[in-house]
Amino acid sequence: MKIYFLGTGTSQGIPVIGSDHPVCLSPNFKDKRLRTSILIKQNNTALAIDCGPDFRQQMLQANCQKLDAILFTHEHADHTAGLDDIRPFNFKQGPMPIYVEPRVLSNLQNRFDYVFETENRYPGAPAVQTHLIHENETFEINTIKIEPIRVLHGTLPIFGFKIDNFAYLTDVKFVSDAEQQKLQNLDVLVINALRTTPHQTHFNLDEALQFIKQIKPKKAYITHISHLLGFHDEVQASLPKHVFLAYDNLEINI
Ligand SMILES: [Zn+2]
Repeated sequence: MKIYFLGTGTSQGIPVIGSDHPVCLSPNFKDKRLRTSILIKQNNTALAIDCGPDFRQQMLQANCQKLDAILFTHEHADHTAGLDDIRPFNFKQGPMPIYVEPRVLSNLQNRFDYVFETENRYPGAPAVQTHLIHENETFEINTIKIEPIRVLHGTLPIFGFKIDNFAYLTDVKFVSDAEQQKLQNLDVLVINALRTTPHQTHFNLDEALQFIKQIKPKKAYITHISHLLGFHDEVQASLPKHVFLAYDNLEINI
C-alpha cells in the first residue's frame, strides 16, 4: 500500500491569505500545506480520503490518472469543497463512487444540489454514485477492506478509516476506548495536531502525542496542521523518533 499526502494543512491552508506570520512566509516547501487529504493506492485501486478545496491542484500534483472512489470523513468545507472538480474523472470513468454516512450525504446534497439532481441535469455536471457507510460496518472497495473508526470532532461524530495496519484519523478531539481497541498493532497511524495551544474541536500537539502513546503504532504521522504549530523542521526536531510531521507530497509505503 502506498500513501500519498495530498494536503496536510488545516482549514485555511498554509500560507494563510494575507498573513505575515513567519511560518506563512517560510521558503521551506514543507511549510506549504494544502487542505488535508490523502491518496491511498493498493493493488491498482486508488482512493482519496476527502475532497477539499485544493482537490484539483492535488490530483494534478499527484499525477492521478484514475481515481476509484472518494471517502469522506465529514462534511466541513475543507474536506468537501472540491467535489465539483471530479468532472475530469467523470468524463474518463463515469460517475465517481463516494462513500459517506447519511448525515454527510444530506449535507453534500445541500451544498452541491446540482450534483445530485436527477431531472434536467446540466450537461457535464459532476456525477457521483453514492455508497452509504455506517459505524461498525466494514466495507470493501475492489480488493480493499476498510473499517470506519468513529471519532469526535468536538461534538460532531465523524469517521476515520483503517485499512490493514494503517489508520487515518483527522479532525479528532476524542476517541472512545471501544474505537481505540480497533487501532491496536498499527504499522502507521496518521493523526491530526493543529497547534501547541488547546482547541475545542481538534487535538493540539500534546493531545496527539498522548494519543500516539496510548495507541502505540510503529510509526505516526501528524496532519491537519496550522501555521501556529510552528516551522516544520523545528517541530520535527522536537518529536519522538517514531513520530513525523507529514508534509504535502510525502509518499510512504506500508
Ligand atoms: Zn478539517
